[in-house]
Amino acid sequence: MNDTAETQNVPSQPDVVVIGGGLAGLTAAAVVAKAGRSVVVHEKLSVLGGDARSVDKDGFIFNQGPHALYKGGRAEQVLADLGVTVKGGQPPIKGGLVFDGKVEIAPAGAPTLLRTKALDLKGKVEIGKNLALLPRLKADKYNDVTVADWIGDLVSGERPAEMLRSLVRLATYANQPDQLSADVAITQLQSALGPGVLYLDGGWQSLVDQLATTAGVHVVAGEAIAELPDAPAVIIAAGGASTAARLLDKTFDVGPPAGASCLDLGLSRRPEMDFIIGGDEPFYFSNHSSVAALAPTGQFQAGAIQYLAEGDEPDADAIMNFARKAGVRDADVMVSRRLHKMTTVSAIPTASRGGLASRPKVTDTGHDNVFLAGDWVGPEGHLADAAVASADAAAKAALAVLEQRVSV
Ligand SMILES: Cc1cc2nc3c(=O)[nH]c(=O)nc-3n(C[C@H](O)[C@H](O)[C@H](O)COP(=O)(O)OP(=O)(O)OC[C@H]3O[C@@H](n4cnc5c(N)ncnc54)[C@H](O)[C@@H]3O)c2cc1C
Repeated sequence: MNDTAETQNVPSQPDVVVIGGGLAGLTAAAVVAKAGRSVVVHEKLSVLGGDARSVDKDGFIFNQGPHALYKGGRAEQVLADLGVTVKGGQPPIKGGLVFDGKVEIAPAGAPTLLRTKALDLKGKVEIGKNLALLPRLKADKYNDVTVADWIGDLVSGERPAEMLRSLVRLATYANQPDQLSADVAITQLQSALGPGVLYLDGGWQSLVDQLATTAGVHVVAGEAIAELPDAPAVIIAAGGASTAARLLDKTFDVGPPAGASCLDLGLSRRPEMDFIIGGDEPFYFSNHSSVAALAPTGQFQAGAIQYLAEGDEPDADAIMNFARKAGVRDADVMVSRRLHKMTTVSAIPTASRGGLASRPKVTDTGHDNVFLAGDWVGPEGHLADAAVASADAAAKAALAVLEQRVSV
């Protein structure tokens, strides 16, 4: 539990009850509290933060798997409005791309595209053309197109297609090209290859701590909410759709989850490469301490993951083998932690449903005073950006309900 979160003097009849103390619930609570309304967050675990929490293992700060905040995304904007300080470093867009077990230069711009041996000349021309066109694409036009079909239309060769699929995996945390809608992929790629991402000093816990200690946010932890509370306004921010469905006795038509198996590493020696991704296999490795304060001085914190499609089983040896390709030696590993099977996206936007715009709305609860927030809610953003965007919208909807009560 956050040391300074307000767990005493919890109001018994707050204006707003928030269910879930993850990034979405804490953001919603902070927006409500900043507007001068009383708010209580109920979190079922004894710790706050959900998938945005971090742990300290012998001085190495591990997020719940590798986390990167998209610069210029909704999360960064809303957090800035709330006065949350976002400190960290931006990893450069350069690294390795692994094909046939060999690390090649990842093409991220003209010079690396020319130098890489990962693609033949035709592949380089196709990738170069499409990366140049990417910033101008209107993502919402691709809401009913799968990532597989979109990429199939862009390039003719298998290698360039694999490379684009690997970039989409990286930017979306989803390995379901036959289902994922291309609008999400395009939005995320435009952001990742444009403004870029931040690895956060002190991990994402730094966001959780600041949100939880916003003046006026009260917290009750260690107890799951099993019934819809009776309060002037309620925000359900309990992770994926299943808890909301149970509390509301309602079904939501959402896409399947996406997952990953994660290996966090505390290292005594800097890896030979700070960043590599799999071209023909679904793996990622990154030295997050290359740009962010996440490890003791002279030591390094890195994360490796295997992206899981539905039905895939985690392969712990394969994840470590991938880290070895970046030059991690077994003797360098001081601390490690496995997160066997994590849900990275609770419900991916699918082309068959109509992409981002088809996600449930914050108001889709059947109650005038109950609102939804999470990565599966609302038309904006993906991953944490969706969680925070919907939390902000849910909080504003709750505040509007309170305003109406006063003026009636
Ligand atoms: C391995 C991994 C890597 C990721 N990487 C990135 C990344 O690089 N960039 C990015 O933007 N996003 C990333 N994400 C996604 C990001 O972490 C999530 O989108 C975000 O944290 C979701 O926040 P949330 O509050 O909606 O849900 P959660 O974090 O799931 O929080 C929900 C909270 O509600 C609580 N709860 C559930 N039921 C109840 C109940 N009945 N009563 C009370 N409390 C309840 C849960 O205990 C939990 O604390 C990653 C996720 C994972 C797993």
